[in-house]
Amino acid sequence: AKEKGRNDFQIFNSDMKSVSINRLRLENELRRALVNEEFVLYYQPQVDIGSGRIVGVEALIRWNHPDKGMVMPNHFIPLAEESGLIVPIGEWVLRAACKQNKTWQSEGYAPIPISVNLSMRQFFQHNLKGKIRHVLEQTELDPQYLELEITESMTMDVDHAIQSLLELKELGVNVSIDDFGTGYSSLYYLKKFPIDKLKIDRSFVRDIMVDPNDAAIVATIIAMTHHLNLKVIAEGVETEDQLKFLYQNRCNEVQGYWFSPPVDRLELEHMLRYGISV
Ligand code: C2E
Ligand code: CA
Ligand code: CA
Ligand code: CA
Repeated sequence: AKEKGRNDFQIFNSDMKSVSINRLRLENELRRALVNEEFVLYYQPQVDIGSGRIVGVEALIRWNHPDKGMVMPNHFIPLAEESGLIVPIGEWVLRAACKQNKTWQSEGYAPIPISVNLSMRQFFQHNLKGKIRHVLEQTELDPQYLELEITESMTMDVDHAIQSLLELKELGVNVSIDDFGTGYSSLYYLKKFPIDKLKIDRSFVRDIMVDPNDAAIVATIIAMTHHLNLKVIAEGVETEDQLKFLYQNRCNEVQGYWFSPPVDRLELEHMLRYGISV
């Protein structure tokens, strides 16, 4: 039995080793990707439900890997977060998004805000405000056209969150709470947070036509945002029925495959020019 135990241990141990070697390899590749500018932004339109017009875009990172092709964020963002590389990657995203939005405005597109996802580490970084201000100054983007998305989990430390959010608001940028409904949500504190918008998580939107509970949750969140004077956007809208439900329940904005998946710059520009055909 003792012998067997030792073997089990060795197998376990070598598995662990290959896991950590893979992680190390990926981490090094991520560093190289930053230096070689292998990251690209895709853009998903946010649509005004009444007019069908594009009123914003969310910037979503992709990794254009030399061998693997386009790598999706769920394959590298978690490790980037653990290793801390999310900070320089996030800064790249912020700068690239602001720069692109400024370019669109210079080219004559109607000005719209661009949304950028902030990671936990970025949000808790010292001098986040200074860094964002620096990027806004460098890119000459008017702060009202930048929106920062944070998740509910970043608001757990209420005092810290309020402090950080106040600093961001002083810059004149917008803030939204992403994946709303999935995390710890203190409705009591929600009204104390200086935020502009809630993004209803797509897991609720997915089942609004089949699950009465999800329908009730979504309707309630929307009604609450109106009382709190917040904007609201539903994520993950994939069907016309979902869209109708959201319209009837007075949701302001929608984002999802029904209108468009995240697309590259050229496809987004086409939609900005000619509108979205669904
Ligand atoms: P997220 O911020 O919740 O972004 C929305 C995700 O939902 C995107 O996945 C988008 O492609 C997907 N989506 C949009 N509409 C639909 C729909 O109708 N149906 C379904 N099933 N999915 C839809 P993506 O681009 O793969 O990004 C995944 C996550 O990776 C993001 O979730 C975000 O948490 C993270 N992420 C992406 N870019 C960045 C970034 O620049 N910085 C940070 N920190 N995280 C990022
Ligand atoms: Ca987001
Ligand atoms: Ca989301
Ligand atoms: Ca999400």
